[in-house]
Amino acid sequence: MNSPIEADAPSPQRCGLIAIVGRPNVGKSTLLNALVGQKISITSRKAQTTRHRITGMRTLGATQFVFVDTPGFQTQRSSALNRNLNKTVVASLGDVDVVLFVVEAGRFGLDDAKVLALLQGEHLKDKPVLLVANKLDAVKRRNDMLPWLRGMQDRHAFAEYVPMSSKREADVQRLFGIVEKYLPEQPWLYDEEALTDRSDRFLASEIVREKLFRLTGDELPYSCTVVIDKYEEEGNLRRIGASIVVERDAHKGMVIGEGGERLKRIGSESRQELEKLLGAKVFLELWVKVRSGWADDEAHLRSYGYE
Ligand code: GDP
Repeated sequence: MNSPIEADAPSPQRCGLIAIVGRPNVGKSTLLNALVGQKISITSRKAQTTRHRITGMRTLGATQFVFVDTPGFQTQRSSALNRNLNKTVVASLGDVDVVLFVVEAGRFGLDDAKVLALLQGEHLKDKPVLLVANKLDAVKRRNDMLPWLRGMQDRHAFAEYVPMSSKREADVQRLFGIVEKYLPEQPWLYDEEALTDRSDRFLASEIVREKLFRLTGDELPYSCTVVIDKYEEEGNLRRIGASIVVERDAHKGMVIGEGGERLKRIGSESRQELEKLLGAKVFLELWVKVRSGWADDEAHLRSYGYE
């Protein structure tokens, strides 16, 4: 990240990684969707710039908010939040800039305490953790909130205390303003346009990419990417042509699979998901191209939208 992607972008640019954690059912997905501004959270498994899975992004003014997944908090079963996960959690949170710890306003139970305990590990002690007291709209006795928030202060020195409702747009906007302060001044990691309006082209490349990495397991190196060559709309039909760009012939074989089976699956799963997301019929053509050494070619990477 040596220079901003666009010379005329607002400056100074800020950009940072944000993790949203909390026990199941506190409203994490609702909050993420509200922050990202769209109902889907795209999962691109092998994100280029971090070892996180990017679950969503939003660029507002000069600031790019990048939301990442945190393995260890994904589970729906709180019993899995045990000591064994400690390492994973610490590793996954180690390089995020700020953590949003979500609880239900006015409540703090054993499961919340388990998550908080993970955040209080030695390695994370300097990490800013913001307490998001969500579902404020569901709190009937507002007068109880102040003593409850004081009680939370005793549990942890949170960087901020944010009582809010993920379902209130004004609250979500306010949260952006609060989180922004914790993101470092540095060039954006992603192209603004691709992420703010989640262009359908971008969506298509992310979906194919996600299937590609999921169906090939860990065999493929990070440098493989997906480029949309063609995106045409004809009424309710989308004609999409995409190239999976790999570095070596051996990788090409992995992507294609025996008798072309794997590529076929990547294609059909991508098509089905895209049809759902776009609400249109999709005709998807996939190509596998070998472009040796392109991963070293910075200009080329740039043109693919990665840095
Ligand atoms: P997660 O398991 O933490 O991801 O929680 P979800 O986002 O799935 O939300 C769990 C439930 O809480 C859902 O029924 C949401 O509609 C609800 N919910 C989320 N945020 C709010 C909020 O701000 N207010 C109210 N009243 N309900 C919410």
